[in-house]
Amino acid sequence: AKNVVEVSNDTDDCRLRFDGRKSDEIRNVSITRNFTKYAQGSVLIEMGNTKVICTAFVDDAVPPFIKGTGSGWISAEYSMIPSATLTRKKRDVNKGRVDGRSQEIQRLIGRSIRSVVDLEKLGERTIWIDCDVIQADGGTRTASITGAFVALADALYTLYKKGELKKMPVSSLLSAVSVGVVDGEVLLDVCYEEDSCAEVDTNVVMNNRGEFIEIQGTGEERPFSKKELEIILDYAEKGNRELMRLQRAVLGEVADSIIGCE
Ligand code: UDP
Repeated sequence: AKNVVEVSNDTDDCRLRFDGRKSDEIRNVSITRNFTKYAQGSVLIEMGNTKVICTAFVDDAVPPFIKGTGSGWISAEYSMIPSATLTRKKRDVNKGRVDGRSQEIQRLIGRSIRSVVDLEKLGERTIWIDCDVIQADGGTRTASITGAFVALADALYTLYKKGELKKMPVSSLLSAVSVGVVDGEVLLDVCYEEDSCAEVDTNVVMNNRGEFIEIQGTGEERPFSKKELEIILDYAEKGNRELMRLQRAVLGEVADSIIGCE
């Protein structure tokens, strides 16, 4: 295995990954807006073979503990349909209880989305973010965040256009990407085959100012060095920059209304 600290951003001499990508290349991404009818924001995001439906549903009420404060609320749920994986996965909600992995992921999605929204400007309403993985091939939580942001932006823009919001309460774009280390090589946006043999597994959430919102990093197979982490973060920055470029392109004037808020 290659020595990890020798991995560089110059990928010209890197061997190709089994799906033909270079180490610092994200998968083909596609974001389809207005995917379903009833939610104000509704997106299908495809990152390679990972497919997630992300919706943002506006509710004109808030939970009792913030009623009367003038502030809004954002809540996120994440789930995988049973046929999303190679071997059928039991539903992750059993007798009303969400399994541990899904709970961790939906909290991450909620924190990430809240980081770019001004809840006071949102006013007393709740945005329900729902991420449903219909096909899993690695990076479902990061695809959920990237897709959910687009759904959220659409939902808020709908309110803004209707005059229900004076200003867009979003300050920045938001995306997330995974980075793994396999055989000592840092790999951007790992698919399942890579993920399942990764020594180090990270998920990096960023805004469009190049700032970090959340970094999850696990050296499950072996500890990792600060030097490796620096390469991981460089890769994550590159991936997120590309994802936000795509978000901007697909959102058009909705993105302008967000970037204009800075
Ligand atoms: N996976 C699976 N069944 C599960 C959980 C995960 O097949 O119950 C696969 C799926 O392809 C997923 C990948 O393992 O994308 C990595 O899962 P992880 O928990 O690391 O989260 P993710 O990378 O999807 O955010």
